[in-house]
Amino acid sequence: MHELPITESILKIVLKHAQANDVRKVKTIHLRIGRLSDLQDEWIQRYFDYLSKGTVAERARIEIERTPIVMRCNACTASYEWEVSKMGDVVCPACGGKSSTLLSGREYTIKEMEAE
Ligand SMILES: [Zn+2]
Repeated sequence: MHELPITESILKIVLKHAQANDVRKVKTIHLRIGRLSDLQDEWIQRYFDYLSKGTVAERARIEIERTPIVMRCNACTASYEWEVSKMGDVVCPACGGKSSTLLSGREYTIKEMEAE
């Protein structure tokens, strides 16, 4: 259940931002989560509902957008997008190299939030 600490930190950022911008009610929060992350949308919303009670973000809706996995080839340094289902067999489309580094795909960021 690692959604809990992550949801806590998201709420913390949202509340800080709301306070700095004099927001009285947060309506929607847009998150971007890497496709390789196993964070479950449903759990993020549930934890958020629970944690945000009594704050300006109470009952805010969380919209999640999944961002692509980006790899970088260790041989030719080309970067390319890859599918979750093929993570066991990563091959550089430029040179065929099988050694690569994950550039993004696990991260989560707050893209924007809407106030009411
Ligand atoms: Zn390559």
